[in-house]
Amino acid sequence: MATKSKRTASKTKNESTSEEDDLLMTEEPEVTVSIEDLPGVGPATAEKLREAGFDELLAIAVMSPSELAEQAELGEAVASKIIAGAKKMANIGGFVSGGALLDRRREVLKLSAKVQSIDDLLGGGFETQALVEVYGAFGSGKTQIGHQLAVNCTLPVSEGGLDGDIFYIDTEDTFRPERITQMARGLGLDPDAVLSRIHVARAYNSAHQILLVDEIKRLSRGMNVKLIIVDSLTSHFRAEYVGRGMLAQRQQKLNRHLKELKQTADVNNALVLVTNQVHSKPDAMWGDPTKPVGGHVLAHASTFRLYLRKAKGGRRIARLVDSPNLPDGECIYQVTEEGLRD
Ligand code: ADP
Ligand code: MG
Repeated sequence: MATKSKRTASKTKNESTSEEDDLLMTEEPEVTVSIEDLPGVGPATAEKLREAGFDELLAIAVMSPSELAEQAELGEAVASKIIAGAKKMANIGGFVSGGALLDRRREVLKLSAKVQSIDDLLGGGFETQALVEVYGAFGSGKTQIGHQLAVNCTLPVSEGGLDGDIFYIDTEDTFRPERITQMARGLGLDPDAVLSRIHVARAYNSAHQILLVDEIKRLSRGMNVKLIIVDSLTSHFRAEYVGRGMLAQRQQKLNRHLKELKQTADVNNALVLVTNQVHSKPDAMWGDPTKPVGGHVLAHASTFRLYLRKAKGGRRIARLVDSPNLPDGECIYQVTEEGLRD
């Protein structure tokens, strides 16, 4: 029990810290409010809330009483009281001036794909402080992009890299050091030096995948983390949360996971790259077969979405689907032994 409450307390503090960092980039804000501090929330209710994925005040503050009651298995009156308390106590965040935002934008770095057509499509490369989603069918080249960016990230800034460390969460057991070696050689880099900067963890299920982000936060303090890859973001969630009844819960977990990733990236001025599948067949739960899975949650979380597909003659097409400041468009490239090429 003692260990449990200790873990809970430190986790809550971490989350509040990241929430603040997202807006202010400050190091250690004094935020110590947890869901136990809400009126009407004792240990049992806190447990129910956490199990349903509500472990921070803001997540509760934005719910309707009926939704919260249903998802956390509470009475509606209780839910209503908890939401009212959360609204008062949550750190909703504040407004910052356009100038302050511009200062933050000036810190943004760009990671080159070392493929001119891809860099052009992205206005110069993959931006830090962004979450990029790469989606496409099996074999479309999503993992190749992950491997290539991991290698490129170790390059000096003057050569299009970020001179940074990489965390790679591998959910499908498709990370291959041999492939990194090939791509490093393709850029004239020492493969061992490149491999030593790529930190890989295999995620065995979605809960493990979520925990690994906490581990990245912990490990990244003394490092220059510039790229976090989750390949694939959605496969475990998709396999574990099956059926309509699980949909709300899955989306909520996914949403939290994405927020954690994005916050970790922002704090480090790093880039998050996640890969995602397309619906393999039309079905009631997953919908249109040409659409990425993950629904609105992922669509809203992604700063850029790239849709990959194969073309004739071994060529690949990447389509920029959503971007806050760039036109939609397509580019063509190839996957070779040495890596991605024009
Ligand atoms: P996804 O992750 O989208 O399922 P991958 O990124 O694993 O797809 O892409 C696999 C494809 O990448 C292969 O079908 C092949 O065309 C290409 N590929 C992988 N390794 C090499 C290599 N060493 N040389 C050339 N092409 C490769
Ligand atoms: Mg893959």
